Amino acid sequence: MVDTQALECSVLVLNRFYMAIRVINVRRALTLLYRSGAEVIAIEDDQYVNYDFDSWCEVSQLHGLDKQPDEDYLRTPNFEIQVPRIIRLTRYEKVPKTVVRFNRRNLFARDQHRCQYCGQHRPVSLLSLDHVIPRSLGGKTNWENIVCCCVSCNSRKGGRTPTQAGMKLLSKPVKPQSNPALATPLKDPRYASWKSFLPQAVAVPYDNG
Ligand SMILES: [Zn+2]
Repeated sequence: MVDTQALECSVLVLNRFYMAIRVINVRRALTLLYRSGAEVIAIEDDQYVNYDFDSWCEVSQLHGLDKQPDEDYLRTPNFEIQVPRIIRLTRYEKVPKTVVRFNRRNLFARDQHRCQYCGQHRPVSLLSLDHVIPRSLGGKTNWENIVCCCVSCNSRKGGRTPTQAGMKLLSKPVKPQSNPALATPLKDPRYASWKSFLPQAVAVPYDNG
């Protein structure tokens, strides 16, 4: 059995030059580590410490004896591994992307998993994406016309514009200037170590309302 909360953690990926390039899930991070294209970067006593997969497994055993509230562990029947917060691709030299990719994950992150009509925060399973101006009325599929929306607001709105449905958007949807997927975890103390690797412009949470 695997700990689902731990599996939902995010991991910051650095390139060879310690530049933040993206955020991935734990499963993907562990795969990268295991295949030795990556190493864990941990901050210990204000110093960066690098661990390969084997040494990270060893250190996980030690940390596991005295678990801290800001640590997550993945438990399987045979072993337990501490969830890394940062990994570094030791052979990857490309520089970070500056364009924010238009996808579900980034749309949800931009809107902070909050329905843009009723304001409720919801898990991804209870969220959908809404075309503010419906496609049937010529609405585009882009940053400016798609918002995060809970399932019930979405069905209430149906194929209408917000005005027609008597609903109001909390804020005007815009294209984010920096990767919104980076902003959400920064509010969580478990991801404090990310701050060292993110430029100030990225570290500012995306908050439009
Ligand atoms: Zn709603």
